Amino acid sequence: MDADVIVVGGGLAGLVAASEAVARGRRVVLVDQEPETGLGGQAFWSFGGLFLVDSPEQRRMRIRDSVELAWQDWQGSAGFDRGVEEPGGEDYWAARWARAYVDFAAGEKRAWLHGLGVRWIPLVGWAERGGYLADGHGNSVPRFHITWGTGPGLLAPFLAKIARARADGLVDVRFRHRVDGLVVEGGKVVGVRGGVLEPSAAARGVASSRVEVGSSSCAGRP
Ligand SMILES: Cc1cc2nc3c(=O)[nH]c(=O)nc-3n(C[C@H](O)[C@H](O)[C@H](O)COP(=O)(O)OP(=O)(O)OC[C@H]3O[C@@H](n4cnc5c(N)ncnc54)[C@H](O)[C@@H]3O)c2cc1C
Repeated sequence: MDADVIVVGGGLAGLVAASEAVARGRRVVLVDQEPETGLGGQAFWSFGGLFLVDSPEQRRMRIRDSVELAWQDWQGSAGFDRGVEEPGGEDYWAARWARAYVDFAAGEKRAWLHGLGVRWIPLVGWAERGGYLADGHGNSVPRFHITWGTGPGLLAPFLAKIARARADGLVDVRFRHRVDGLVVEGGKVVGVRGGVLEPSAAARGVASSRVEVGSSSCAGRP
């Protein structure tokens, strides 16, 4: 198999990555060890509670939130203290990723999902609330936005995009393909390899067989 982009795992993360790659004109191979019945992974069972900052739902409930407060809360939980400012430091990339995610949650995240048809129950919950104080760990204000339709409601637009892309031949989904390792050449990851598992009729959430009937590899274009 050949592709511009190889996505391992057809959970929500993989579906979003694959659909974004297709939107940028890339040919994608998506591999998942489960049968098609499991497409969507854990998100199907989830509550669909999303971290959003300074949203219309919060403002309607008179919850005063800001990107600065959310970033303070995040740092209070994460406790980044190992080389945050030094490239190569243990917390360097974690802190950068976290800051980008908080900015995303306070910025384009809601509008992007809203544009895909995702909606939220207008009652913001207070998950991971920690010690209730702004200088401790956890969310110091409610930020848990429950998706209308819970997890399946959040998955729906991405499942639809992948179904369209499969019909158009832009995504090749290989179920029952388990990735066991990365193919590295000259210090670069150029593909993945693993086992092909026997067909399974297991329903979503039911353990499927792990009997291997072959092997497979997939190369990405550098
Ligand atoms: C009951 C429940 C409620 C939840 N509620 C919330 C909530 O309200 N808010 C929230 O933010 N989060 C919630 N979560 C967590 C959230 O659902 C998950 O963090 C998220 O869905 C993970 O998505 P993912 O794509 O990273 O991983 P997964 O959904 O785990 O998908 C991984 C995929 O990779 C495949 N895979 C794994 N290993 C291999 C391999 N070696 N080779 C090939 N394929 C492989 C799996 O088959 C699977 O399809 C909840 C989770 C559960 C279970």
